[in-house]
Amino acid sequence: MQVIILGSGSPLPDPARAGPSTLVRTAVGDLLFDCGRAVLMRCAAVGSGAGAIRGLYLTHLHSDHITDLNDIFTMRWVISLVPNPLPVFGPVGTAALLQATEAMLEPDIGYRLAHHDDLHWRPAATVTEADPGVIFDEGTVRVTAAPTDHAPVRPTLGFRVDDGDRSVVIAGDTVPCPGLDELCAGTDMLVHTVVRRDLIEQVGLPRLTDVLDYHSSVPDAARTAQRHGVQALVLTHLVPAPAPGTEQEWLDQATAHFTGEVVLATDLLKLDVTPPRRR
Ligand SMILES: [Zn+2]
Repeated sequence: MQVIILGSGSPLPDPARAGPSTLVRTAVGDLLFDCGRAVLMRCAAVGSGAGAIRGLYLTHLHSDHITDLNDIFTMRWVISLVPNPLPVFGPVGTAALLQATEAMLEPDIGYRLAHHDDLHWRPAATVTEADPGVIFDEGTVRVTAAPTDHAPVRPTLGFRVDDGDRSVVIAGDTVPCPGLDELCAGTDMLVHTVVRRDLIEQVGLPRLTDVLDYHSSVPDAARTAQRHGVQALVLTHLVPAPAPGTEQEWLDQATAHFTGEVVLATDLLKLDVTPPRRR
């Protein structure tokens, strides 16, 4: 199993960091977690794309995590030679989001149906508003969802992908919480969104300090990883984007609380999920 960070950024536009999105390459295909700004550009760079995705998993419906849903929805429809509904898994509200996305695209859908004689079906998605538990199970691959805590954003989900004896957790935006702990128990890799509390407090803008109460800081994420003996912690959704030369500060804030491997995400970073060590 391989994890590819497609977008390591946040709502704040950055020339080097696309919006939050992570691709997990499994034995049954590519699973996409969130679809932030420029997700299909990043997919194109690693040989994936809207038509190839076996499932889109949304951790929550904050705009930065779903910015390019409309692009995936449209491109999957336009490039597929037969009807190919997009499988989408997400929290309650996901079905309404897909309906609204389709409504937004109504003029485009009309143009393309009128223009292409061989395209006589509409874009479609199969939506699963996920309850906690196993939500996908095929071959060696299993995806499990659990509630996270990003209040007042509700509901929100974290996901764990197991492929054979390897596993990765995609935390999404959350503070430390029991649901995330449940997913992390015995996992190999934890991909965690983080913010830098110290830097945000220095800036002191209320609109920015507000984000501290519903995101994990770097030490928060590190302590979660440490509690569960995770092998590798991947820090992503970096707020603020690390200034050049400050990467070590981020790593140091994690290694102060976590004895495993720490990785500071960059876009298109590929990480092999290694088999579990003997415990
Ligand atoms: Zn969020």
